[in-house]
Amino acid sequence: MALRGFLEENFGGFFHDEAFPVKPTGRYISIVLLRKTESEAIFRTDEGITQEMITLGIEDKSKASRVIFSKRKAIAMERRKGRELLRLHDLIKETCNINGSMCGECADCLVYGYAAAGKGESAAGGLKSRVLAENAYSILPASEITDVRTINALSEMETMSEPDEKGELQMRESLASNEYVKPETHFIDVETLRDVRPAEFVYVLGNILRTKRYGAISSRMGKIKNSIVAIVTSDSEPFSCLELTKMVWDKLEPSVRSHPLDDRLVEEALLQSVETVLEHHPGNYRLFSGQKLQELLQLVKEAYENPEVELIDMIKNLSGLKAAKG
Ligand SMILES: [Zn+2]
Repeated sequence: MALRGFLEENFGGFFHDEAFPVKPTGRYISIVLLRKTESEAIFRTDEGITQEMITLGIEDKSKASRVIFSKRKAIAMERRKGRELLRLHDLIKETCNINGSMCGECADCLVYGYAAAGKGESAAGGLKSRVLAENAYSILPASEITDVRTINALSEMETMSEPDEKGELQMRESLASNEYVKPETHFIDVETLRDVRPAEFVYVLGNILRTKRYGAISSRMGKIKNSIVAIVTSDSEPFSCLELTKMVWDKLEPSVRSHPLDDRLVEEALLQSVETVLEHHPGNYRLFSGQKLQELLQLVKEAYENPEVELIDMIKNLSGLKAAKG
């Protein structure tokens, strides 16, 4: 009961309780996080790593490309992590298939949404995700945090050159080159939950904290550590990832803006930026950071360590959409 008690005490009436929240009521929970690569990572489309040319800060008007960590990729991997848990504890039907027809009843379908019924099914309408995500941006410019590794095939002489028919040494071509994001690169990200119930909040939080691998599954690259720096409840969405990223950039002294950034400095700058945005936020809000946030994260951790104590029950008791059942 520890976690449920904490949520009740600290989040008060902010959560919806039992019934599925059909109509939006302006209850937003923003999870502000730092994502840090812990290996070389490839976040790219076929054209290479996704980058966008933008202004570096709000005060600093110089322009450069930043690497983008796509929201689609982030949510897809976190969803999978959550569905593993549901499957492990028998909380999801065998027939709920993320690439096919989805059940519309499990925690994953209810929180992250699902598309309208697939072929041969009655059109149940589908459900919009209540996890609002944005693309995250690297704090440092792409030129600082990306590199290219070429894979070479050496000649029999064990060099990169080889004699041609005339006996003249010619350079061999490299087999392949891979552009990657360096380890220890920081991205600033915000996931916003809209109108959720306590179990749904804990579920999404757990998925963020437990997902360590992003990007192509076939690739061994793409380890990431997510750290939650602040959680904010509010009556409208206060944050934009890009704005926070620019504010953090401005707060970092020019002398420390090089790879790898100091974790502590980045976290401090991010929390200060969150506070500044909230000071100007036209509406109600409550910020959880420092000790209070650590208390919450510790309780979430314990809930996942012994899921049979609270977590499984919380998820099991989530009621679905009544309308869908007619
Ligand atoms: Zn489902």
